[in-house]
Amino acid sequence: MSADITERSTVAVDFAGPYGLSIDGKLIETNKSFDVFNPATNEVLAQAPEGTAEHMEAAIAAAKRAFPAWSAMDADARGALVEAYADALDAHKEELITLLTQEQGKPRHSMAKGEVEAAIHWVREVGKRRLPVEVIEDTDSHVVEVHHTPLGVVGAITPWNFPVLLGLWKVAPCLVTGNTMVMKPSPYTPLCTLRFGEIAQQVFPAGVLNIVSGGNDLGQQMTEHPDIAKISFTGSTATGKKVMASGSTNLKRITLELGGNDAAIVLADADWQAIVPTLFWAAFGNSGQWCIASKRLYVHRSIHAQFVEAFVAYARDIKVGDGMDPATGLGPIQNRMQFGKLKDLFADVKANGYDVPLGGEIDESLAGNFVPVTIVNNPPEDSRIVKEEPFGPILPIIAFDDVEEVIAKANDSPFGLAGSVWGRDRDAAIAVAKRLETGTVWVNEIHLHGIDVPFGGHKQSGLGVENGREGLAEFTNTKTYMFKK
Ligand code: NAD
Repeated sequence: MSADITERSTVAVDFAGPYGLSIDGKLIETNKSFDVFNPATNEVLAQAPEGTAEHMEAAIAAAKRAFPAWSAMDADARGALVEAYADALDAHKEELITLLTQEQGKPRHSMAKGEVEAAIHWVREVGKRRLPVEVIEDTDSHVVEVHHTPLGVVGAITPWNFPVLLGLWKVAPCLVTGNTMVMKPSPYTPLCTLRFGEIAQQVFPAGVLNIVSGGNDLGQQMTEHPDIAKISFTGSTATGKKVMASGSTNLKRITLELGGNDAAIVLADADWQAIVPTLFWAAFGNSGQWCIASKRLYVHRSIHAQFVEAFVAYARDIKVGDGMDPATGLGPIQNRMQFGKLKDLFADVKANGYDVPLGGEIDESLAGNFVPVTIVNNPPEDSRIVKEEPFGPILPIIAFDDVEEVIAKANDSPFGLAGSVWGRDRDAAIAVAKRLETGTVWVNEIHLHGIDVPFGGHKQSGLGVENGREGLAEFTNTKTYMFKK
């Protein structure tokens, strides 16, 4: 391995300085690096350290060494350190928000600010959470207790759409329950993760949180590694299946947060004019690069035409541009790979001659990965734009005639992440919501999350949950104690 840049005790996180891996409490410089691009310009933003298999081994070994002392520490002392980490992150909040916009593309004043602030809030609050001992039986002769014990080294693998929030959603519950961690961010967005890893070295003992950036092969190495007890993965369903297959080598615990194709159902009695802006942002926020974006809008035929007209009128005024510009509502697509996938989907919409009342043409002469807000009116149910997860700013708005039909269409998907139902008759809307085969469903509201609210997908949208008591418990084994009195 190459030389340390600095010892942990002297770390002062320098946002202008070079990026390093965080291994065993030290910042590690690598011999090789890779380019990270600003998606608004496609210029190189920074060089990220390219971790090797040797770096990954060292990180896993450091996490393993740190585990006995960290897991033996009093839970309140660990929790206090997690809360102190929130304070340390907060001290660098503005730099993190700017860096997030520059590497991910999302608007600084809205989405990036919201992501970083929510992530810090999560860390602080999760630091206060505990999994108490459950007393199942306590009689004159016998006691049965269930304890939650940490698993060991957790491997975390994260995607490029919400690198700060989704990364810290894993760090806080993992550490508070007494595990140690090695995290590998997406090669498209490693920078914020490397910086929050550096910040962590000011707070936690060496080896408790290690960050290794590099290629997808590092992810594979983690999923196969015998010293990793659990993988917490957020990403595509295709990669999730590989994680599950290779994790079987040592029967790893696995949490998978995967893709979705969420339906939003607007019933005939919905206050549809009032919800147009809400549904626009539910579908197009983060330029549609959101697992729980509303990706299919089903609107009752009696209001469909007026709804599409109002939706297009609202969408037309939203500025797509560089996220550093305060006038920007939607930023670029994060990377060229995803931009290419969207070009292909746009070509399919065009080739099939679907009705496109807004957008539809990608201007490839622009420097950044900009894709216009695009609405596809009433495409067939079996079209790619309805069946696939586009992960971009393109939305089908489909007319339906009756509730049974729309429930069947919404459920006719291998995905089951989330969904929403909109209608003035609350009971009728809830009755529809109860029949959606999804991990989360919202009625007359959308995209609310909570520290104590479990979040996870049904069907091929995932396995297990994050957040809530259940999410915390997924970082533990249950251990049953029986004592004769
Ligand atoms: P991806 O699956 O391509 O990559 C995710 C991570 O997996 C990256 O860090 C990547 O380097 C790593 N990886 C790649 N190959 C691997 C392998 N063989 N073994 C282990 N790790 C490997 O996903 P992405 O394109 O970064 O993210 C977009 C996807 O993530 C979308 O489908 C989206 O819906 C999903 N997503 C889901 C949630 C959720 O909570 N359900 C949240 C955000 C994103």
